[in-house]
Amino acid sequence: MTKQHAHDFKGKVVVLTGAGGVLVSEFAKQYAQAGAKVALLDLNEEAAQGYADEINNAGGTARAYKCNVLEKPSIEAAKEAVVKDLGEVDILVNGAGGNNARATTDNEFHETEGLEDMKTFFDLDQDGISFVFNLNFLGTLLPTQVFAKDMVGRKGANILNISSMNGFTPLTKIPAYSGAKAAISNFTEWLAVHFSHVGIRVNAIAPGFLVSNQNRALLFNEDGTPTARANKILNNTPMGRFGEAEELIGGLLFLTDEHAASFVNGVVLPIDGGFNAYSGV
Ligand code: NAD
Repeated sequence: MTKQHAHDFKGKVVVLTGAGGVLVSEFAKQYAQAGAKVALLDLNEEAAQGYADEINNAGGTARAYKCNVLEKPSIEAAKEAVVKDLGEVDILVNGAGGNNARATTDNEFHETEGLEDMKTFFDLDQDGISFVFNLNFLGTLLPTQVFAKDMVGRKGANILNISSMNGFTPLTKIPAYSGAKAAISNFTEWLAVHFSHVGIRVNAIAPGFLVSNQNRALLFNEDGTPTARANKILNNTPMGRFGEAEELIGGLLFLTDEHAASFVNGVVLPIDGGFNAYSGV
């Protein structure tokens, strides 16, 4: 059941990239429930439209836009349409991101033998690594360039980025994704400082381990039992379970609420059941 949160976003225009995906579509629904007009941007317009329809059918105000966060003209076109349809933008959630198999090793540790038929660090594909780096880092920077310009001096304007546990300590197998999320945490701090004189707050959430399309294959075997990796995660999460997408909402709404978080700037908030705090001992 969806929790009720006491944040009021009435009249605010919230733009969310990656809103055709599992997590950010949920974010969009929650902002709409809290009174915001939401713009769902995604490369996959059909998925974004499906979620926008759901929000509108439930009495909210939502529009879907096709947008590639790696192409400035595409972001600019989406922005123009959002402003025309919904009004000036108050909040940007940079949600598009993810990993790719071409930037993932098969092995956690390199060994001197037993690596036949494995994709090791030495086999990683340069294009795959660029893809992941660009999607996460540039895919956050470029929309920020486009949308933040008109947020300058706008009361209550702010930006929320999505980092990850691997932004603090890298996870095995996914060097590009880990590096790109570390870059997002760093960029969040940079932006918070850069915009501090013009009233745009910038923060990030760092979700812990949640089950989604992006990581399902890494966490569960075909028969539904947890993989060795999933068991490792659970053993290293003091609360002993995976998170639910809706458990990110409190942090999301708090950080982007101009009243509740008016002096919170440049933080990366872990929402992780204690994973980041635990040394494993
Ligand atoms: P998802 O794969 O369900 O959704 C990602 C969405 O981004 C998709 O709808 C996809 O079409 C869109 N997208 C991809 N490339 C794009 C582009 N170039 N332009 C515009 N849209 C594009 O992912 P998710 O699980 O909802 O994750 C959302 C964010 O949260 C990502 O930044 C992800 O890295 C981060 N995150 C997720 C988890 C998790 O456990 N799911 C944990 C930590 C961080």
